[in-house]
Amino acid sequence: AQLDTLDIIVLAVILVGTAAYFTKGKVWGVTKDPYAASFANANGHKAGKTRNIIEKMEETGKNCVIFYGSQTGTAEDYASRLAKEGKSRFGLETMVADLEDYDYENLDAIPEDKVVMFVLATYGEGEPTDNAVDFYEFITGEDVSFSNSADPPLGNLNYVAFGLGNNTYEHYNSMVRNVNKALEKLGAHRIGEAGEGDDGAGTMEEDFLAWKDPMWAALAAKMGLEERESVYEPILGIVERENLTKDSPEVYLGEPNKMHLEGAAKGPFNAHNPYIAPIVESKELFSVKDRNCLHLEVDISGSGNLSYQTGDHIAIWPTNPGQEVEQFLNILGLEDKKDTVISVKALEPTAKVPFPTPTTYDAIVRYHLEICAPVSRQFLGTLAAFAPDETVKAEMAKLGNDKDYFQEKISKNHYNIARTLSVVSDGKKWTNAPFSAFIEGLTKLQPRYYSISSSSVVQPKKISITAVVETQVIPGRADPFKGVATNYLLALKQKQNGDPNPEPFGLTYELTGPRNKYDGVHVPVHVRHSNFKLPSDPSKPIIMIGPGTGVAPFRGFVQERAHQAKSGENVGRTLLFFGCRKREEDFVYESEWEEYKKSLGDNFELITAFSREGPNKVYVQHRLKEKAQEVNELLQKKAYLYVCGDAANMAREVNAVLAQIIAEQRGIPETKAEEIVKNMRASNQYQEDVW
Ligand code: FAD
Repeated sequence: AQLDTLDIIVLAVILVGTAAYFTKGKVWGVTKDPYAASFANANGHKAGKTRNIIEKMEETGKNCVIFYGSQTGTAEDYASRLAKEGKSRFGLETMVADLEDYDYENLDAIPEDKVVMFVLATYGEGEPTDNAVDFYEFITGEDVSFSNSADPPLGNLNYVAFGLGNNTYEHYNSMVRNVNKALEKLGAHRIGEAGEGDDGAGTMEEDFLAWKDPMWAALAAKMGLEERESVYEPILGIVERENLTKDSPEVYLGEPNKMHLEGAAKGPFNAHNPYIAPIVESKELFSVKDRNCLHLEVDISGSGNLSYQTGDHIAIWPTNPGQEVEQFLNILGLEDKKDTVISVKALEPTAKVPFPTPTTYDAIVRYHLEICAPVSRQFLGTLAAFAPDETVKAEMAKLGNDKDYFQEKISKNHYNIARTLSVVSDGKKWTNAPFSAFIEGLTKLQPRYYSISSSSVVQPKKISITAVVETQVIPGRADPFKGVATNYLLALKQKQNGDPNPEPFGLTYELTGPRNKYDGVHVPVHVRHSNFKLPSDPSKPIIMIGPGTGVAPFRGFVQERAHQAKSGENVGRTLLFFGCRKREEDFVYESEWEEYKKSLGDNFELITAFSREGPNKVYVQHRLKEKAQEVNELLQKKAYLYVCGDAANMAREVNAVLAQIIAEQRGIPETKAEEIVKNMRASNQYQEDVW
């Protein structure tokens, strides 16, 4: 039989690996490491890279491209999973593509025997993700035009569509809906339904699984594909680098890119290149022992290019806790190899290696993979083949196939992948499971975003963060569930306050970072600009609604307006609705608000709602209603209204209460009031920063 390209590449890698073994890698000079290039290539720095998708597919022998529009990595993951499944179950030659990396004018020239899939997340207020903005504007544009002028323009295009959204937002899954509509209008043929996953209902994964099977059936029928027994085929190859140790200068120990490795991390700092920022101040904001809310001050003055504006977000690049890293390596039987140096290489030209190599198992698990995240049921099905024995294999297959069983055994307990494997195999090691499957099957460790809680006018070079530490007691599970980034920040806060070896809740972190580059209490960060902004004219009234950590950006807003008032500017009415459990427990920044009031005078009013003090639960939306008359008057004076915090309940209820207030106060029907609220959103008079 003829070898296909993938086979040849696999063989080549094995041969190169073997050569490396026998030569102890001596043929590879430090600067000419054939593996070192793969990360740069994978990240689009390769010169002359084509933006022509048809050319790319022809060059690489693909007949199915899966485009993704992704913000936090989930859509990208789903795209990879579709690619793997298409290949292993149906022999499709699949590739995954970032929407940002290609042009779209030739979508009309994609041959009929190929298929294009779109996995599209909706972001914020129904917006495309950053990497999908151009595509979205192109495809939904009034005067969209393609290279050929066929009629209908996309009559040849076969496509598949899945959207990731959140039903608590008004524009639920609007990306996939609008793109689907646009494609239909242009005459393209959809295969299967346009799927919709709902993060708001917590059913994203199950929605995806329920959608994809009928889609595959429809696709197989349409393209005449035969299903075969699916086996795991790696798209990443791993080669142990015997000649390198973790102390070799070219080995990445968690450094995010080459500049960081070489010690001279330079700007511009952005989502691909974090700034290692000093934490210069930190404190606890809650007065209770069992819950924590952190206030941190991050100094960006040494960064050169980093700047922020009031209302922006800061991203924290977390590190996984030592215990979870250990458990992960142990269950795979890699504990003795944790510092072994490996290179990871894309086995096919369209695959991406998600981190720079050569590196170590430990560094990959600690700095680059979401090892603590919820487990994908489909992934367990894939791993069944590598179970340590037949009983475990059967159990894994059952978990993979049975949604309710999976929910009961795994999801309910908040188990991550290592705990799941360990529970299912009763501690037996998974030494047969290829490490590549985990790199391919787990999400890349994601930065966490925080609404900046300081004003850039008051402290342009110091960013404040207000973060509540994520911890949940899970019934039936011995230890509480711990969030990744916030517990890492808690450890950093303890260190900043003088504890040399902090162990919050028994968790330890490599706080000094790769090669001690984060020593002296540093954290990798970048800044993301947002549209959540104060009116440029400070005399305009504003209404802010931010319970819990939702108050974060409003601390920045009030800080700014207090500063403006102090400097003699005319500052308008400033209403802040804040809610928490009890005044004595979690009323954050209580004394600061009093300080700000000294500058702002009676123009500033803080309206509090303590949900656990009286016989009835009182929330910010109740207080808003009590203030109906003034709220309505301010809105009629074109006050800006801001909501920040919990998207699932609070933000939705505030929206509803607002419509009620307008209806009652203006004596108009509620449908009309809802229309007014919608228009306020459309004109940015009503802004949300919710998560
Ligand atoms: P993670 O480890 O990411 O866990 C988060 C949640 O995911 C858990 O609570 C749980 O529900 C689920 N989960 C994770 N692992 C599992 C598992 N194995 N099984 C089941 N469920 C699991 N937060 C603030 O405190 N302050 C802010 O100002 C703030 N601003 C934000 C602004 C924006 C734009 C966004 C998007 C978010 C903001 N957040 C803010 C939230 C913040 O980004 C983080 O999501 C939060 O701090 C939790 O991060 P973590 O890494 O500690 O938790």
